[in-house]
Amino acid sequence: MDVSFTHTEQVVFDKIAKAAAELSLPAYLIGGFVRDKIIGRPTKDADIVCLGDGIALAHRVADLFEPRPTVAYFKNFGTAQIKLPAFEIEFVGARKESYQPDSRKPQVETGSLEDDQNRRDFTINALAISLNQADFGTLIDPFDGLKAIEAKIIQTPLTPAQTFSDDPLRMMRAIRFATQLGFNIVPETFEAIQAQASRIKIVSQERITDELNKIMLCKKPSIGWDLLYQSGLLQIVFPQMVELHGAQYIDGHGHKDNFYHTLQVIDNISEHTDDLWLRWAALLHDIGKPATKQFEEGHGWTFHGHEMVGARMVPKIFGKLKLPLNEKMKLVQKLVALHLRPISLTKENITDSAVRRLLFDAGEDIDGLMLLCSADITSKNKQKVKRYLQNFELVKLRMKEVEEKDQMRNWQPPITGEMIMEHFKLSPGRNVGLIKDAIREAILDGLIPNDYESAFRFMLEKGAELGLSLSE
Ligand code: ATP
Ligand code: MG
Repeated sequence: MDVSFTHTEQVVFDKIAKAAAELSLPAYLIGGFVRDKIIGRPTKDADIVCLGDGIALAHRVADLFEPRPTVAYFKNFGTAQIKLPAFEIEFVGARKESYQPDSRKPQVETGSLEDDQNRRDFTINALAISLNQADFGTLIDPFDGLKAIEAKIIQTPLTPAQTFSDDPLRMMRAIRFATQLGFNIVPETFEAIQAQASRIKIVSQERITDELNKIMLCKKPSIGWDLLYQSGLLQIVFPQMVELHGAQYIDGHGHKDNFYHTLQVIDNISEHTDDLWLRWAALLHDIGKPATKQFEEGHGWTFHGHEMVGARMVPKIFGKLKLPLNEKMKLVQKLVALHLRPISLTKENITDSAVRRLLFDAGEDIDGLMLLCSADITSKNKQKVKRYLQNFELVKLRMKEVEEKDQMRNWQPPITGEMIMEHFKLSPGRNVGLIKDAIREAILDGLIPNDYESAFRFMLEKGAELGLSLSE
């Protein structure tokens, strides 16, 4: 096996080798960096394990750079980090970990390279490369990690039951790596995940959500979400999503399986955007369906109002998953609420006012909404999908026309609340709101043109109707 380093890497690793020799601390590249090199994925950071004091090694390595980079170190953990402009290196002393059943924190003691490889989560993550002068570049592979990479399999170095019981987050990591790398989890390992899924409860939500986000950012996130479902982990970490699973039949009428539909929608949107929040919007777009499902005689299955029910569920889901409760959450909520609007335009005569309303409601998020809405067009019937997509192109065209004409994106009506208050000498209150809303509606409906004079005249009319006296 030949691993080739970039020029920068070679320079850095030579310095580590030199420092390690000076301190007589054998040092090795280990873990994700080695794995990704062999696979040929891009790498941007490297972990170094040494037999001895990792912090001391980091300081000596830093001495060899001009200018000397800062060493960030954590005495309690025995780790140190050097950030170079294009590259990050993490140092740690080789360690042995033993877990007590009653505690999540392992007992840590210094160990051999082999001990350190033993505590790694998967055989593909347990490979090491020597940085020592005698055998620089040699692969040290006690668990056949190289073969696992070739066979594209994910497997634990020790028994899976032990590995997952020691740190249940590894169950999520297995699924994340399977999704990221397109590898298969070997049956014995997957069965152990199924058996121990409930132990994920002892892991902090932040670590779980980190893995969910990494799955979300994969090329085909559906692989991970389906494995989460199959393993039983999804039932614990995100039960609302499990509710989407399955199709119910009454009198021979079935509805589509909303879980697999949702997975298709995430994969579709992921072909067009890397934006994590648009992907979350895709995942959550139908989350209100189980709560709104009804069977109507002579009509079949309906999910009336699922978009609004779903939008209302978003803050709680974000809170539970410890996703940020900020404007990103608002974006997701808005897209869930509006996700039916663009497609519903294709079913009626598209009026300018309907298009204007959509542009006004979506504001600057209109492009994201359109991506979500095209991703939502899934059907086994290719003709149907094609027809929908064609109609959808028409909607986009009309939107472009209206947008160019009326500039609705980020639009605000030409008369503000302040202007209304000043003109009628009003203090804030009901009448101000009434007039303001009436002006906005009149413009959106195309009753009056979108300019100051027309809006001003309309304001006077409304004021008169409400019996308000003018200030002049
Ligand atoms: P990525 O950086 O893409 O998330 P990675 O494999 O580098 O993938 P890190 O979390 O950076 O993952 O960890 C580096 C290495 O540390 C891993 O390759 C693995 O050997 C080890 N490791 C990390 N987390 C665990 C864990 N929970 N249990 C056992 N070993 C772990
Ligand atoms: Mg890493």
